[in-house]
Amino acid sequence: MAMVFNKKGLKRILGHLMSLGKKEVRYLIFLIVALTVLLLGKAFSMMEEDIGEQMVAMDRYDLSLKENSGNAPMDSMVSERERERLLFEIEERIVKYLFQIPDYTYMSSLETYFRYSPGLLDEIPSCTPLEKGDYRLSSAFGYRVHPISGKRKKHMGLDFAAPKDKQVYATASGTVVSIVRSKTGYGTHIIIRHRFGFRTLYGHLTKILVGKEQFVQQHELIGTVGSSGDSTGCHLHYEVSKNGEKIDPIPSLDLKRKIILELIER
Ligand SMILES: [Zn+2]
Repeated sequence: MAMVFNKKGLKRILGHLMSLGKKEVRYLIFLIVALTVLLLGKAFSMMEEDIGEQMVAMDRYDLSLKENSGNAPMDSMVSERERERLLFEIEERIVKYLFQIPDYTYMSSLETYFRYSPGLLDEIPSCTPLEKGDYRLSSAFGYRVHPISGKRKKHMGLDFAAPKDKQVYATASGTVVSIVRSKTGYGTHIIIRHRFGFRTLYGHLTKILVGKEQFVQQHELIGTVGSSGDSTGCHLHYEVSKNGEKIDPIPSLDLKRKIILELIER
């Protein structure tokens, strides 16, 4: 687009814009917004199969949303309604996208959008399962020598070393789908099913404070830290899975906090 305009042309267009009335400006904004939705909508339906390409389109969406929201005059009912419609359309696509993404690496392209709809973050594991100051990250996601078997094995979650009985919180709203009390493996543990294909697991607990099939809110108290099952000391083993695959939860731990802070700073 920028290639088409030279300095002179741009000046002329700006001149035309300056001479437009309020009503005409609103109409122009309406047209730009409608065209953007139409074009990007088309781009999206074409790229549905390819997440990589979809990310590029998502960035464009973010940009257009930002630009359009900045430009829309607040006193105009038309553009306000149009803005709402645009947000709704984008939300629909984001929801679809959230179901498809395999892990958190694709989440960064959504960060701009989350600022417009932070409520979605309540449904995505996007914070720590323990309170700040209550834990120390003692084992990362990935290959390590298992502390009990001595064998090299993939560690499918994060370990938070924490004192016994420290409170454990759900990292997103969802339904408790599994409560197990075992002397081996994860020991006493909880699995919560969230929206968009996410699940979280909280292992080696002492107490479980929720029931099966119970709906819990994000940050709701669900149990307490212990050392049940195959564990060498008090810690919480925390897993996140997406569409059946266990993924690294590290990028999720400060996801919500980061976006909320950006919102406050605005
Ligand atoms: Zn672990």
